Amino acid sequence: MKILLVEDTRSIAAVMCARLKAMGHEVALAVNGREAVERFPDIAPDLVLMDIEMPEMNGFEAVKHIRAYEATHEWAWTPVIFLTASDSVENLVQAIEAGGDDYLTKMAPEAVLQAKMKALGRIVAMRRQLIAANHHLKVQAQRDGLTGLCNRRYMDQRCDEYWKQAISRGECFGLMLLDVDHFKRYNDRYGHQAGDDCLRAVAQAVDGAVAEASAGASFAARYGGEEFAVILPGVSAPSLHALADAILMRIRQLGIAHADNVAHGCVTASLGAAWVPRAEGGIVNLFRQADANLYQAKSQGRNRAVISELSGTVLTRPLS
Ligand code: GH3
Ligand code: MG
Ligand code: MG
Ligand code: MG
Repeated sequence: MKILLVEDTRSIAAVMCARLKAMGHEVALAVNGREAVERFPDIAPDLVLMDIEMPEMNGFEAVKHIRAYEATHEWAWTPVIFLTASDSVENLVQAIEAGGDDYLTKMAPEAVLQAKMKALGRIVAMRRQLIAANHHLKVQAQRDGLTGLCNRRYMDQRCDEYWKQAISRGECFGLMLLDVDHFKRYNDRYGHQAGDDCLRAVAQAVDGAVAEASAGASFAARYGGEEFAVILPGVSAPSLHALADAILMRIRQLGIAHADNVAHGCVTASLGAAWVPRAEGGIVNLFRQADANLYQAKSQGRNRAVISELSGTVLTRPLS
């Protein structure tokens, strides 16, 4: 374990340091509460051993600061053991009340110190596993199970954040909605399993094109069913047009046979996009416009993009 030892009495610090190192732990020493608080974020210890009586800032104060810092970080709770002079009930109660997890008398026998370190080591290991599992779950909750793209819920959340940011910075914003053409027929002819494979491939094509355009914070999401969205904060109108072409081309180039998409013979998609030179009002207007443009793209023959500036002129992009 990486242990932060906070102790102002040099001789005690030296003895504790040596004992902990002999047990195989890594030890960083701070000589008062203030130093411990200041260095805590950099050291990021697995465990803190904290003296109580110290100049500048005592142990109880220091732990309050450490807990306040941890409150701003998810799942942060570093075990703190107070080092006390005596083994009293009062010491234990005070230690827990101050945000500590346990206490240890400074001159505890070797076996006691070893046993406590062992118990705490187990808690630290479990905490690491919990953090990793929590991170994994969080990522999974943001992803669409079939395609691996951002799911609708996460898209809505990020979209709102980026939109607010664009409003406050007076920046432009673009949004694309894509819909696979005649996908019901695809499922009917090739089966639902093939339909799923097709959606995965289309998702990769969309994501790949967005990544290649490396347009800042842009990201693709599964909007629902066979529909995808691309959120493009700060994108210029020419870049939006170029990306729309690139996405439709990549989908065609997948070359997935689709005999019932009669005009093209392969899987294609239609795209509606909306762009504003300066974000203002609700993002819902952008979605409405993109949706209306998608409808236009469908009715004009599919496999094309219709892009417009919000409440501006509609520009049709026929297939290239
Ligand atoms: P259009 O060109 O007008 O968009 O026609 P369409 O057939 O694509 O549109 P429609 O909305 O009639 O059908 C969408 C189909 O997408 C129906 C549904 O079964 C299929 N679909 C939605 N989600 C999934 C999925 O996760 N997997 C598979 N295989 N199919 C899906
Ligand atoms: Mg002291
Ligand atoms: Mg649809
Ligand atoms: Mg469709």
